[in-house]
Amino acid sequence: MHIKAVLFDYGGTLDSDGLTWLNRFSTLYREHGIDTGLEPFRRAFYDADDNLPARFDLRGLGLERTLLLQAGCVCKSLGQGEALAQDVVRSFLDSSRSFFRRNLPLLKELRSRYRLGVVSNFYGNLDSILAGEGLLDLFDVVSESEKVGVIKPEPGIFLHAVNAVGCAPNEALMVGDSIRRDMRGAEGLGMPHAWLAGGHDASGRCCGRAHVLRSLLDLGPLLLDRPTLHAGFAGIIAAGEGSRLKEARPGTPKPLVSVAGRPLVHWVVEGLRAAGARSIVILLNTSGDAVRSYLESAFPDVTWTFLREDTASSWESFRLVSRRLASETERFIISTVDALIPPADVARFAREALSGPEAAALAVTPFVDDEKPLWADLDDAGRVSALGARASQRRCATCGLYALRRSTALDMPPAPTYARLRDYWAALVESGSPVRGMVLGKTIDVDRPQDLGIAEAAVRAF
Ligand SMILES: [Mg+2]
Repeated sequence: MHIKAVLFDYGGTLDSDGLTWLNRFSTLYREHGIDTGLEPFRRAFYDADDNLPARFDLRGLGLERTLLLQAGCVCKSLGQGEALAQDVVRSFLDSSRSFFRRNLPLLKELRSRYRLGVVSNFYGNLDSILAGEGLLDLFDVVSESEKVGVIKPEPGIFLHAVNAVGCAPNEALMVGDSIRRDMRGAEGLGMPHAWLAGGHDASGRCCGRAHVLRSLLDLGPLLLDRPTLHAGFAGIIAAGEGSRLKEARPGTPKPLVSVAGRPLVHWVVEGLRAAGARSIVILLNTSGDAVRSYLESAFPDVTWTFLREDTASSWESFRLVSRRLASETERFIISTVDALIPPADVARFAREALSGPEAAALAVTPFVDDEKPLWADLDDAGRVSALGARASQRRCATCGLYALRRSTALDMPPAPTYARLRDYWAALVESGSPVRGMVLGKTIDVDRPQDLGIAEAAVRAF
């Protein structure tokens, strides 16, 4: 891809990972006790949104004052007072600003290599909003529908931006969360495009040429050739009995159960390799010979370490693999053998999981189809605030992918301390150790015979 410029949508792209303002606001109003149903809310929202520049002089207004006017109109339509508008705007601002803070280092790095622009259907004061949030200097152009006089997906607004940054349409990457406005508009002009899908199911939603991003930070590896997994070390826990699958597939060890023509463990290794794994430590139980021969012949380029142990629990297995990896490297990731996760998500997890000061990180997913999910509550900073029985939000559950620092692994208590892996994690979170929670898209926990069909469809979509 020969890219000279990167153009961003604003709402849903720079201020969240793929959630529209309508979505974010409707959730916030619901959380504040206003549940009108989607249609009446949508009407009130778009009435406020479409008419804001006609009703108010927005020149020079920053984000907070603009949002207060917008929410004020919505509240009026819904028969609510100013106090609600202020509460909702406070939450909206906080979440927008946490994304600005998170995205800023990436945007600065992109700015050193590319020309950057914003292409947005917006009210006419996006310049002053970006300036107020400390972002305006990053961009060479802000093409805004209210000013350019053309709205996305019409070509004129994209051409305005492309001309301003001085490149051809096919040399500019358009990044946005809307298929209809951002992706179709870019596609029509032959512009490369990246869809910020967030947690949405990405299969078949855009054209086959679109890059799919789960987070804006996925632009790092796409555009900055950044290395992924630290030193290339990863682990797999494959020592469990897999008793429920065993009944359906007698004689086949769980890692070798076939999913779309290849053993389950094959897909897990593919994910780790996408994250940059070159050395993999795998724990097999003493009947794991067939797994070992498969892996050695299917992945001759991986440096394998096979641990053979009939462990008493998932925690003991995790502990063994962690401590072995900690003897080799500072940071690493571990997957369970039944966690089917899109390789791009595994790569993102490996890249971001321990980019901060956290002791450990857990991958979590809002797509929960598990008899005994391990619920994980996250706080605004993306850290796990409660796990298991103590979790109260119960929006996401862990999905079998973990990241650890060496020091965390070396601090693990003796094997008999816990009966289950989830007890270790719950204790770690309760002890106050910072644990990052990273939200992934759809992942599959292959446990029951009926999971195999879902797994097949999933790996075909990878
Ligand atoms: Mg958008």
